[in-house]
Amino acid sequence: MSTWQNGRFERDKLSSVFHPFTPAHAAESLHSIDIQQLWDRGKRLLLLDVDNTLVQWHTDECSPEVLDWTKRAKEIGFEICIVSNTNQHERLAKIAATVGAITVRGRFKPSRSMFRLALMKFKRKPEEAIMVGDQLITDVLGANRTGIEAIWVRKLEGKEFKGTSINRVMERMLTGLIYQALVTPIDETSSSPEVERAKPLGQKTIVHQLVKFAIVGGTSFVIDFGFTYLFMKVIPMEGGLMSDHLGTFLIHNFGPLFSYATHPSAAALPILGAVASFFAMTNSAFMNRAWTFEVKGKEERAKQIRRFYVVSILGQFINIGVATAVFSMIGNQQLLIPKVAGAGIAAAWNFIGSRLYAFRGHV
Ligand SMILES: [Mg+2]
Repeated sequence: MSTWQNGRFERDKLSSVFHPFTPAHAAESLHSIDIQQLWDRGKRLLLLDVDNTLVQWHTDECSPEVLDWTKRAKEIGFEICIVSNTNQHERLAKIAATVGAITVRGRFKPSRSMFRLALMKFKRKPEEAIMVGDQLITDVLGANRTGIEAIWVRKLEGKEFKGTSINRVMERMLTGLIYQALVTPIDETSSSPEVERAKPLGQKTIVHQLVKFAIVGGTSFVIDFGFTYLFMKVIPMEGGLMSDHLGTFLIHNFGPLFSYATHPSAAALPILGAVASFFAMTNSAFMNRAWTFEVKGKEERAKQIRRFYVVSILGQFINIGVATAVFSMIGNQQLLIPKVAGAGIAAAWNFIGSRLYAFRGHV
């Protein structure tokens, strides 16, 4: 489950068919759940799954983090109830004793039976309970069916019961769907101007984005240069270099266009350079989308990548245009200043274009 994401689900974004499978939250681990906040929201009864939530499957040792978290829950005042159908009674009793919980047994989740028993036992209403478990098909669905809010936690590392793997296949199919309704903590912080303004400069989202954008630009430069070098100087063809053959072909067939070329490879450079730039641009498009601007999901991806190409191609023109203008202005054949000016202004253009146009609405 390498694609695990934490956050809050906005069910209204989904078809009602999927509501029963959609948790209220997804959390990395038990100890990342803010137990005090649950209490403040009126939750009093904590329902917990066992296998791969509290302990690894077939084991009875809780990690120190889990013990610490359940201890805090007890101190705050929570009643803890384990809802599990494992038939290893001794193991279950031991786990329940370590975390200070009571156990209920009943039909397999997603049946409502254990959830109802737990509510009856503790004389609580569904809205006062919270279920925490690692499976959508059992823990989350069962809780939702009973009207209990559910938190879906990332499964603990380790093996699983054979039957669970079938659930996991269905779960993976569901995950992609329900993630469309996920609001991650990153979305929340970047979409809130107040939170953003309160951050010190070094932690501002835009500063992080600028740094990442510069790193991506560096990798794209390496790709651009690497491929240009490969095409021009390395790839052989019929006893010579591919670039020479291509250049000769171009001069021979489109002479006037390449009249500037003093050597065949000079005619091939714009074509091969454009191919290398395209590879570099593709790298920038995908890395900036996923990493710099952290756009989630595949929705609108093709459209965003296309828009990024438009921004980048215009950026190339700006780069060349500015460099040429500065070059003719200073007039002493100095190349570094014009190139830096062109690249700098084009980079600013690309960054602003990416934020306000290519990935707009997501950053
Ligand atoms: Mg489980």
